[in-house]
Amino acid sequence: MQHLDLQKVPTELYIGGAWVGSSDGSRFDVEDPATGEVIANVASGSTDDAEAAVTAAADAMSSWRQTPPRQRGEILRRSFELMTERKDELAELIVLESGKSWNDAVGEVAYAAEFYRWFAEEAVRADGLITRAPNGDKHIIAKHRPVGVCALVTPWNFPAAMATRKIGPALAAGCTVVLKPASDTPLTALAMAELMAEAGTPAGVVNVLPARRSGPTVGTMLADPRVRKLSFTGSTEVGRVLLEQASKQVLNCSMELGGNAPFIVFDDADIEAAVDGAMVAKMRNGGESCIAANRFLVQSGVADRFSEVLAERMKALRLGPGLDRTSDVGPVINEAARDEIASWVDSSLSSGATALAGANAPAGTGWFYEPTVLGRVDRDDPILDHEVFGPVAPVASFDTEDDALEQANATEFGLAAYVYSGDLSRALRVGEGIEAGVVGINRGFVSDPAAPFGGMKQSGLGREGAHDGLLEFLETQYLAVDW
Ligand code: NAD
Repeated sequence: MQHLDLQKVPTELYIGGAWVGSSDGSRFDVEDPATGEVIANVASGSTDDAEAAVTAAADAMSSWRQTPPRQRGEILRRSFELMTERKDELAELIVLESGKSWNDAVGEVAYAAEFYRWFAEEAVRADGLITRAPNGDKHIIAKHRPVGVCALVTPWNFPAAMATRKIGPALAAGCTVVLKPASDTPLTALAMAELMAEAGTPAGVVNVLPARRSGPTVGTMLADPRVRKLSFTGSTEVGRVLLEQASKQVLNCSMELGGNAPFIVFDDADIEAAVDGAMVAKMRNGGESCIAANRFLVQSGVADRFSEVLAERMKALRLGPGLDRTSDVGPVINEAARDEIASWVDSSLSSGATALAGANAPAGTGWFYEPTVLGRVDRDDPILDHEVFGPVAPVASFDTEDDALEQANATEFGLAAYVYSGDLSRALRVGEGIEAGVVGINRGFVSDPAAPFGGMKQSGLGREGAHDGLLEFLETQYLAVDW
């Protein structure tokens, strides 16, 4: 097994195939959430650096778009292979900067690498159309072409996968990119840029620009007319701000935003199976996932039983630093996140919910919060309207199918949902009735690079993964021809 040498992880900006310091000399610290200790000091991209990165991406665009699709695909395929070979080192880096458990980190590397494999295959499938006009006066040729230079902005919760889910299709489509990773987790993105260079990615095709203050750096890119696309993953709040900025240049936008996933359990469901699914839907990535089950809606007759079985399973989870490789749940990302989780739990308890597991931030170093189950949560409790983003499972109840659907849809979000029922027709009917882009039917794990992933309502615009993910980085040109 290869171990990570932290000293060898790049900490400079990656622009035009070179590692460079920030133009204004500024840098920022990256901390390990399990200890609060500084693990690296990284160059912080300034607005001048953002301009330089866009120049590098724009300069690389004409030759990259003409590079044969097969060759672009082979670079992605080689990137998949290198990520797979180095999965342990990358997982260690992800654990160190994001705090997630070892199993979650290894799972993330495999998931992230799959986007490169999938889009290596999709690179050669940007099919167009040729047809005769209905009145016979011409032929219609519809072709896809790369949208142009892309600004990619990613969150900290999946530092590898959220990047590959954008870089893979962008490169497959013939676009060049500037990636601005989250300030809490820039190291994984820098390590992947190095790996992609080794896989043969030409200089300027992938540029990585960490920044301590994201606003001015990203704002510079969005105001630059050479940039033609924004692909953002993060909170709805920041997404709204960026959409407004992107409107000035009428940018093509793909937005993967926040969620508030309901997990619905009917009384005819297999409760043990529903709890198995709940553990995955809630606790993958320690609850720090956009598709995490955020509120459990359980039919009244089985709500207490479901809550108790879930609480037993949550109490059995081992909390600890991911690097020990035996803990099930790591710390949350930082102190502010831990305190916010605690305050949502406290307020729910004071509104009458019962703590069936956890509800406590243990003393000691690191930003840990115990896996928590809140029973008998009132349906009007504000915790059910808020993306808690941590290991907290509030359980509320419903009476009828219509009641379940009404509660599930009573949110501005529409990313993921889960339905458990012993009656598959009912589960499918309810699944179709939920305004969410991704629905798990009798299963808690839904992520797959071959599936179109994305949100309805204020959870986003566009889809990532599948063939749809490639189309997000292409635009259609129609040629009217006579021959
Ligand atoms: P965030 O919105 O705070 O940050 C996301 C990215 O935007 C980061 O790179 C951040 O540095 C940058 N950013 C923040 N403020 C900015 C500004 N004013 N201008 C430009 N860039 C700015 O989100 P986060 O805390 O990193 O991630 C958690 C959120 O991401 C949750 O809401 C979660 O649901 C969402 N998320 C969504 C998906 C999805 O696929 N829909 C996937 C993962 C995470």
